[in-house]
Amino acid sequence: MPKEKISHQYKIKIDHDKCKSCQLCIVHCPTKHIELSSEFNQRGLTYAKAKKDTPCIGCGFCFFICPECCIEVYEE
Ligand code: SF4
Ligand code: SF4
Repeated sequence: MPKEKISHQYKIKIDHDKCKSCQLCIVHCPTKHIELSSEFNQRGLTYAKAKKDTPCIGCGFCFFICPECCIEVYEE
C-alpha cells in the first residue's frame, strides 16, 4: 500500500499595529521567518513581519513569547 504523504504548511499573522518592536519573536524564531519592517505602525514603531524567503515550521515560539499577543500561527 503506498504511503500517504503528509505535508503541513504553516503561516503566521501579525497584528502590526499592536507590535511594540521588542524583537523577541525575531530573536527566537528558529527559521528566521520574522523580520522588522522599514515602515512604521500606528504606534510610530517599526513592526515585526513575516519574511517570504524562509519557512514557518509552526513551532509556536513567536506566539508564546510575544508580550503583546499579536502573533497567530495557523496551518493551511
Ligand atoms: S511559529 Fe515558529 S517558525 Fe513559525 S514564525 Fe513563529 S517562531 Fe518562527
Ligand atoms: S514579540 Fe510581539 S511585540 Fe515583540 S516584535 Fe514580535 S510581534 Fe512585535
